[in-house]
Amino acid sequence: MSADVVIVGGGPNGLMLACELSLAGVRPVVLERLPERIGEIRANGLVGQVVRLLERRGLYERLSGSKEPPQPAPVYVFGALPLDLSMLEDNPLYLLGVPQPRIEAVLEERALELGVEIRRGHEITGLSQRDDAVTVEVMGPAGAYRMDAGYLVGADGGGSLTRKLAGIGFPGVTRDGTVSRTVHATVPESMVDPATGGLNVPGHGHIPPFLHHRTERGLFVYAPFPGRTPLVATTEWPSDPPGDERPLSLDEMRASVRRVLDADVPLGEPAGDGPFLRRTLVGGNTRIADRYRERRVLLVGDAAHVHSAIGGPGLNLGLQDAVNLGWKLAAEIRGWAPLGLLDSYETERRPASERVVMHTQSQSALIAPGAEVTALRVLFTEFLADRRNVQHIADMMAGADLRYEMGAGDDAHPLIGRWAPDLLLDTGTGPVRLAGLTGEARPLLVDLTEQESLAGEVSGWRDRVDVVTARLQDPVTTRPDGSAASVTGLLLRPDCYIAWASASPRPGSDDREGLRTALSRWFGAPLAA
Ligand SMILES: Cc1cc2nc3c(=O)[nH]c(=O)nc-3n(C[C@H](O)[C@H](O)[C@H](O)COP(=O)(O)OP(=O)(O)OC[C@H]3O[C@@H](n4cnc5c(N)ncnc54)[C@H](O)[C@@H]3O)c2cc1C
Repeated sequence: MSADVVIVGGGPNGLMLACELSLAGVRPVVLERLPERIGEIRANGLVGQVVRLLERRGLYERLSGSKEPPQPAPVYVFGALPLDLSMLEDNPLYLLGVPQPRIEAVLEERALELGVEIRRGHEITGLSQRDDAVTVEVMGPAGAYRMDAGYLVGADGGGSLTRKLAGIGFPGVTRDGTVSRTVHATVPESMVDPATGGLNVPGHGHIPPFLHHRTERGLFVYAPFPGRTPLVATTEWPSDPPGDERPLSLDEMRASVRRVLDADVPLGEPAGDGPFLRRTLVGGNTRIADRYRERRVLLVGDAAHVHSAIGGPGLNLGLQDAVNLGWKLAAEIRGWAPLGLLDSYETERRPASERVVMHTQSQSALIAPGAEVTALRVLFTEFLADRRNVQHIADMMAGADLRYEMGAGDDAHPLIGRWAPDLLLDTGTGPVRLAGLTGEARPLLVDLTEQESLAGEVSGWRDRVDVVTARLQDPVTTRPDGSAASVTGLLLRPDCYIAWASASPRPGSDDREGLRTALSRWFGAPLAA
């Protein structure tokens, strides 16, 4: 048995990678050790650029059930401090409140539609590499077998066996001091504030919904997701944390809430069908793999990085890893990848994980107990009255502050290296949003010149690069200064990052040369004339 790519792990990031590879013409095999999805509730939703990315792959409507495009959130939190996002002209923080089992179900459905083979109940137990292949040892329902693959991608989560077998280290820190408890539970109707949906807790005061609420003794969250039993969570810093993660009783949860709020919230058993969450997490890891690639083995998602779940950045990071890697690995397998393309996966995505580690650790520091932390929070609150600081944090949490190196020089167009903004285009048949043109995950030249004069430059890459000629309906805003940039042409990679852009109404020979250089740099040599 053999495959071009074997993906170990059918979690969200492995499934997303499988979809991206399939769109790029490579059929991977996914090996997943669980015989069926167990519906474990981890992520309660998606935060940041990934929400718009899923729309660009046609998956937002399936996940949200809405035909309307995603909208940015008016408020969010950073380290349990409210972020007033309504003050931003260009708010990048999009939220999609869909639980992880639903995200996985939609990604699995899409992968199967695209022809991906998902083998459930197949666990990898060993691997070895040669120059031209990886051999993976698998324990399946019918016994052990071996399989050859051109490449093996470990999407097998934080404890990744793939990473260990490939000899890739996982340096970082383990913090044992925190205990986080999460349950599905009811609260008395009389405590629910009809105006905010939050809680009015006698003896404590108002607690807004969904936002982390810090006291000097810990953190409390009340999350009444529509149509679902509310989630109630606490985080504490006990002097003697339990050594193991024992089953959590509702009484234990009530006691934890009492310690954090210094007031009682009479939590009740959830009604209706489960599964209902009762989880204790002791401590936490913050780690990044010391390399994302070892010859023919690559890592994606939690296999490559783990961090606190505060602010919900995990899938924004992991799913965008998968989208960055998919087209590059497919190009390698299909034989048109330029030198170094596959290694640019780590060059581009490691800084993304380093930023997530930085901001989750910063947030963990801001929610810790103690008078010094309370003082730091007062200072931070003053900073957050300034729109520029809110923009900075929102961009960081959205993953929208990344600018990839595209080799275009310091005076390059401000959009080069950035994720493409939501362009509204007129292609002659009415208005079209960019999100409607990127579902196939192919490289795309958007020619906005009056004379449609750029399209011809792509002729040598026509087998790999699509062209759209259009007129821009709205000016394009480019961060960080919020100014509008003139744009007459854009070259998008499949991950929607901009490899080249022009501002000249009549692009000259330098512009054209720049476009051809970008085409070769990212999409390989042109076809022979
Ligand atoms: C409490 C909690 C709350 C979270 N909240 C959020 C949130 O709100 N928003 C957010 O974006 N993220 C959140 N996250 C993070 C998010 O859940 C993870 O980032 C995400 O699950 C990682 O996906 P993955 O596909 O990389 O790995 P996983 O989801 O861990 O999937 C790995 C898969 O690999 C399989 N596997 C493992 N070993 C093998 C093997 N040897 N052979 C075959 N298969 C194997 C496993 O069975 C599993 O299905 C949260 C995490 C936690 C723990």
